[in-house]
Amino acid sequence: MNEFDLIKRYFHRDHHGPSVIVGNGDDGAVFQTPDGRQTVISVDALVAGRHVPSLCPPEGFAARLLGRGLSDLAAMGADPRYFLLSLTLPNFDAAWVDQFSEKLHQLAVQWGVDLIGGDTSKGPLAAHVTVIGEIDAGRALGRSGALTGDQLWLVGRDLGGARAYLEVLEDRADEHAAWAERYWRPEPLLDAGRALVGCAHAVIDISDGLCQDLDHLLSAAASPLRISLDSATLPLAPGLMDQFDEHQALEFALTGGDDYCLLAAIPVGVAAPHGAVCLGQFEAADDAVILLDDRPLPEDWVLGWDHSR
Ligand code: ADP
Ligand code: MG
Repeated sequence: MNEFDLIKRYFHRDHHGPSVIVGNGDDGAVFQTPDGRQTVISVDALVAGRHVPSLCPPEGFAARLLGRGLSDLAAMGADPRYFLLSLTLPNFDAAWVDQFSEKLHQLAVQWGVDLIGGDTSKGPLAAHVTVIGEIDAGRALGRSGALTGDQLWLVGRDLGGARAYLEVLEDRADEHAAWAERYWRPEPLLDAGRALVGCAHAVIDISDGLCQDLDHLLSAAASPLRISLDSATLPLAPGLMDQFDEHQALEFALTGGDDYCLLAAIPVGVAAPHGAVCLGQFEAADDAVILLDDRPLPEDWVLGWDHSR
């Protein structure tokens, strides 16, 4: 199969939403943005052998790719609308592309996005997804804006499962379905993100590790903030405390990354989304500092994923 046949067969859609004026198949896509709305756009890479294991299942690759991209829109409070896919494949293996594209289209329907373009070429397995969303003018949630006295809320299922999956990947992965699911099937918190609009001062999604992403929130605030995280309130992925000692389990939960939960700074008295847990309260400080149960974070911890690694 050549490149054009592959694109036509697996990635072209005949039907697009009514706001799409030109969908994929042309030199560029055209969509209409309604009056009073603003566009939110973000791009993410997923490279096999770096961000995910070299031998990765096509469905997992699709789900992580789109889930991770849409998590950024969730963190902005945006309504997801469109995405573009730039895909590099080592060979045009029809069975792999079939399963990958099937999963991708299924999730696109579930999450309400329309594939309106992309690019396809040969090379080591990698993909870039550009997600495009919409929000009422001036309403997008940002990382800056956390204030002294705000509470830090965690929205999402639990923490540390994706990191734990990588730990057991080599031998006992099939015994840990919940961790595999956290890793290969992240759920972008789109409804929660929308619910935070108008109630949170600042929001970020946890992609690299809770502490590292929280540090971005602290650093982006207008004046320096410190916070002590309450370890007792952290929702840990199932089985984490059984398989690892407490120190290790907390390290996975607080620094592991790939959890795709949301961290939100919400003023006291304003209701947080249903199911969210309060991790602590921001206080004024000389420098941005994260503590754990009022003590410094363990010295041997690296706060999150380093992209230059
Ligand atoms: P161009 O030469 O203009 O880059 P291509 O031959 O690369 O065009 O792509 C043809 C059409 O197919 C374009 O509309 C492009 O957006 C779309 N396309 C290519 N690859 C993908 C893909 N992986 N997913 C979705 N659309 C794609
Ligand atoms: Mg092209």
